[in-house]
Amino acid sequence: MGVHVSLRESLSFVVALDQGTTSSRAVVFDAHCRPVAASQREFQQHYPRPGWVEHDPLELWHSQQAVLAAALRKAGIEPRRLAAIGIANQRETTLVWERRTGRPIARAIVWQDRRTAPICDRLRADGLAGAIRRRTGLVIDPYFSGTKLKWLLDHTPGARARARRGELLFGTVDTWLIWQLTGGVVHATDASNAARTMLFDIRRQCWDRELLAALDIPPAMLPEVRDSAGQFGHWQWRGARIPIMGVAGDQQAALFGQGCTAPGMAKNTYGTGCFLLLNTGNRPSAKPANLLATVAWRLGGNVTYALEGSVLVAGAAVQWLRDGLRIIAAAPESERLARQAGAAEEVYVVPAFAGLGAPYWDMYARGAIFGLTRGADRAQIVKATLESLAFQTRDVLEAMQSGTGVRLRRLRVDGGAAANDFLMQFQADILGVRVERPPLLETTALGAARLAGLAVGMWPLKSPCTVPAGRMRVFTPRASVRWRERRYARWRDAVARTRGWLVDER
Ligand code: ADP
Repeated sequence: MGVHVSLRESLSFVVALDQGTTSSRAVVFDAHCRPVAASQREFQQHYPRPGWVEHDPLELWHSQQAVLAAALRKAGIEPRRLAAIGIANQRETTLVWERRTGRPIARAIVWQDRRTAPICDRLRADGLAGAIRRRTGLVIDPYFSGTKLKWLLDHTPGARARARRGELLFGTVDTWLIWQLTGGVVHATDASNAARTMLFDIRRQCWDRELLAALDIPPAMLPEVRDSAGQFGHWQWRGARIPIMGVAGDQQAALFGQGCTAPGMAKNTYGTGCFLLLNTGNRPSAKPANLLATVAWRLGGNVTYALEGSVLVAGAAVQWLRDGLRIIAAAPESERLARQAGAAEEVYVVPAFAGLGAPYWDMYARGAIFGLTRGADRAQIVKATLESLAFQTRDVLEAMQSGTGVRLRRLRVDGGAAANDFLMQFQADILGVRVERPPLLETTALGAARLAGLAVGMWPLKSPCTVPAGRMRVFTPRASVRWRERRYARWRDAVARTRGWLVDER
């Protein structure tokens, strides 16, 4: 017993890497799942053409490495006290690098990138939508890695032949970080990330040969798919060998971090995009067809599935206010401006910058502002932009409820933009549902840490370290049904007018 206790004390920290779309973060958690130190760094977004979004793979790795070191320094702990590393990552973003040198052959194509819309049209014309839905749980859309990988192989001279010879490796961001952390020893991913490639059979839990053939992707370049909690190799740091023990896509990690481990539990994350995930237990949900069936996590070979509504642009629209329009200096300022705006002007911003995700799946929609009058000002546009996050969430929730018959009575939220009280109150008002916000918004990092902690026996599933409910901030609906339905109907009308905008490019 004594030995057991001292071992647990000496290994009492877990560090989570949260490699997001806008920033790299690292959070150190103690044995009670309390965050003790964190570090964060934004990195550059590249928009080389309209609809294209890229990240520099080395910048992703270097920023992640820097925040990892900084968080450990802040925590002031010895390397030997780190029990494990967990990784949560932006999903679908596609990388290809050289096996021998680790050099990327191109910038990473980010999940929001739309350049592969024509490839998607072809897949649909070839009648593959049904098979893709049945096997991968996904709809055909540029969002997922498969067509991005094909594009990289098509547009990099010699790449396909090199990939066939085993010289090039494919990975999503988790795989890239694992490869870097282990010094090129481990080329692996977890089932939750594999499920986002449009190449993975989520029932049989293997790469799908037919889909690989349809996209002309050499199987030799694919990573090995492992459980979400388990061995992914070691990171060597100051003489210590720290095992990487937990890996999941950021949204699935947040679902785990929110403690939504039973069927019927759901959370909504307001990050770059908005992602509503409902735990559906040990079966992927076939309905509704306009949401995604995906792997939540795989533990000891057992798969838990989730139904997901993915909104492609949410917090990214707030970033656009800051960096594109430059009408706010920082994201939190949006709250003050929205409160100033008043209710007289009714402006609608549809941030379909990257087309529309769930439940519309329209690659050719583009953004628009509706309802402008001479009285509309900066505050109105900021307010309407925040409201668009809540409207899009309602779109997804309506689809989820009608497809599954599940009625959500409360919505658990997290992510950067969930810090915005105006937005959360508006969300409760427009849904007519209680919105519950935990004190810790870093649930993605917590989820990655918990998966890693589970694998090393620190936090068994049955004794979860979740947020005490008493400390939740609750937003209760205040608006009338009439107001809610009128505003929502206007939103639906605004969305309808953005559909298929790029008609000429079809
Ligand atoms: P990701 O993991 O996708 O990088 P985060 O969860 O870190 O995203 O959230 C960052 C996003 O949230 C950014 O797009 C930012 O514009 C938005 N955001 C952050 N704080 C606020 C705020 N107070 N109000 C509205 N949006 C915010």
